[in-house]
Amino acid sequence: MNLPDGLTPVADGLHLWSPGHAGTWGFANCLLVTSGEQAALVDTPYDRPMTEALIAAARPVLPAGAVAVRTIVNTHVNGDHTFGNGCFPGAEIIATKASAEHLCREPSPQQMHFLTHQTPADQPLGWYAREHFGRYTYEGVESVPPTTTFSGRHALRVGDIEAELIEVGPAHSAGDLIVHFPQQGVVCAGDVLFADDHPVHWNGPLARIAAAAETILALDPEVVVPGHGPVMGPQDVRDYVTYLRELEALVHAHHAAGAPAGEAAADILASGFYDHLGLPERIVILTAVEYRHLDGDDSDPDLVQLAAQAADWAYRHHGPGSSD
Ligand SMILES: [Zn+2]
Repeated sequence: MNLPDGLTPVADGLHLWSPGHAGTWGFANCLLVTSGEQAALVDTPYDRPMTEALIAAARPVLPAGAVAVRTIVNTHVNGDHTFGNGCFPGAEIIATKASAEHLCREPSPQQMHFLTHQTPADQPLGWYAREHFGRYTYEGVESVPPTTTFSGRHALRVGDIEAELIEVGPAHSAGDLIVHFPQQGVVCAGDVLFADDHPVHWNGPLARIAAAAETILALDPEVVVPGHGPVMGPQDVRDYVTYLRELEALVHAHHAAGAPAGEAAADILASGFYDHLGLPERIVILTAVEYRHLDGDDSDPDLVQLAAQAADWAYRHHGPGSSD
């Protein structure tokens, strides 16, 4: 896979490692924060080869005498933002208390290896897992949990750089946080925001994601780093809120009309909703999650089962089972 061999400057002391790759899962943005001899990283890549590529790319940017990354912030605990944690032994790993408590919801590296190698490749989930996750190396990855947790807000200082971690979950996941760099006018949004692809949100409801995006806008940032895709400006975030509100209205209307979730999602997709974005099958997940809230179902969402529903739609529409 083509990975960036350099970091992109975002602001003073902030450099982005953005693996890009719209239209597929797992390539998350990571932000390196450096000041004096201190370095911190917001999110880590999905596997060891990617994390090693990031470390190599970061080398020229690390200040002379820096003792490598000693602090990691996990915006949430999906594997594509945390599986690289183990490549930074001894680092403090900061996340919200809610993230730490819901870590058990996340598919483990072993489960991801099973899904991508040992499921039937000619069935929707096995096919989809191979298509989107087969390029990653889950063997040898150890899920390393947070070492410092908080609720609400948490101040972080990296050399002369001040940052505030602000809990905005439950939204995308049970325990999302955003990172605000007030001196730089930058916010790191984690998976509250996606650029170029349809978003995926496991916890919801959609109103919570919109509220989290509004919290970002209220900080009046110049640059916003989404969890996936190119950096955004405030107008992009406002457009994203519009997307969420439009989708919410469509899903609620289908629910009120008594349509089952799968049918609602298929209808919304057939209408061409934001069809210039990648990964349309994520609408199936967003709809199913919104229905859970509308139906008052507060059991833990099953991430693999939700992904399997999206895989079914993708298999029928552009997989080997496609009739399109
Ligand atoms: Zn992600």
